[in-house]
Amino acid sequence: MPFLYLSKDGLKELLSKLYDWGELFWVDGSFEGKPRLARATKEAIAKYEVPALRGVEPVKSLVIPPKQKVAEYPGNLDKDIEIAPKKRAIFGIAQCDLAGITIFDRVFKDDPEFVDPFYVERRKGLFIVTIDCAKAYPSCFCNLVKGKPFCDPGDGYDLNLTPVEDGFLVDVGTPAGEELLKGTGASQATDSIIAGRDKLRAKVTAQLEKQNAQFATEKTYIELVSEVREEPASYRHHGSTCVECGACTNVCPGCFCFGIYDNDAGDGRYERLMTWDSCQLAGFSRMAGMLNPRLRIAQRFMHRYNHKFFHYPWRYEGWPSCTGCGRCVDNCMGSIDMRATLRDLTVESVEDMLPSPSPKVAEPEAGK
Ligand code: SF4
Ligand code: SF4
Repeated sequence: MPFLYLSKDGLKELLSKLYDWGELFWVDGSFEGKPRLARATKEAIAKYEVPALRGVEPVKSLVIPPKQKVAEYPGNLDKDIEIAPKKRAIFGIAQCDLAGITIFDRVFKDDPEFVDPFYVERRKGLFIVTIDCAKAYPSCFCNLVKGKPFCDPGDGYDLNLTPVEDGFLVDVGTPAGEELLKGTGASQATDSIIAGRDKLRAKVTAQLEKQNAQFATEKTYIELVSEVREEPASYRHHGSTCVECGACTNVCPGCFCFGIYDNDAGDGRYERLMTWDSCQLAGFSRMAGMLNPRLRIAQRFMHRYNHKFFHYPWRYEGWPSCTGCGRCVDNCMGSIDMRATLRDLTVESVEDMLPSPSPKVAEPEAGK
């Protein structure tokens, strides 16, 4: 299908159609440069602003709820457990968030060993509209982990939008996307509009390369982490300010560890709950008899990197379970920058390492 052009009025039309189609969530750009994930309302469509950057929050709570009931007992075999609305649209997410959903798909939907029926049902009804990043946060590093500030055909979106001139260039990813675009006034895009998209993509990619040059390594992060055998000094150096708050895993669009526990629901009934968990917490790997193979924070810290850049890519065709969104960098109580930890796997002496805690990467100069 050719690229299409959608005007700003056409966008409102598309949002109205999505609102009527199912439950609509969006990343709203009208929060002083910090786009927020929110449930859409009909009234807010008129003043909705597309985000220039990824949302502050990841969208993972929409595909893996922080807490969900997965069973009731005794005897509920004839009773359905509520899963999720049949149709849910997520509008305006960045490539790093779509890549996060793909990370979950590989584990809970496509890996025959671990199919999660709750995830599969929720995923079936999901309609995804991605949008190119028009800017990058100083913490963004998608370019270092096989990502980019825009999506390509085949990445899994229903529609992808690029902000151009007075509207949007639209790439249709699925028949469902094509269907929802009908009646919005979308028309064939001109060559100059397509050139505008290429220019924007090149600009943001160049910004990412520039701000991340100090963290770039000759070998990929996956190669570096996979080669580690002993606990490297970088994990002790950068992990020394970790206070075990678990923020990094909670905000991560690629973290999916969970716990299961049973709750007394009263009247002789019990419910089994699945909740987000964090490998950074001491209790995560505690076993019967209070044994814990990862008692020290540095061990847990190292485990998180091993999982993202060694275990996961080893199992899933070389893909990391980090999308480079930078949320863990923005939210770490210990000011730990994941890029610095990974870069410092290339040096042995602490004197040659980047400082800990990590200084903030500077904001790009205005207009650059
Ligand atoms: S590890 Fe950090 S940068 Fe990577 S996806 Fe998770 S929150 Fe984003
Ligand atoms: S956010 Fe930072 S301080 Fe908190 S657990 Fe993660 S690495 Fe440790």
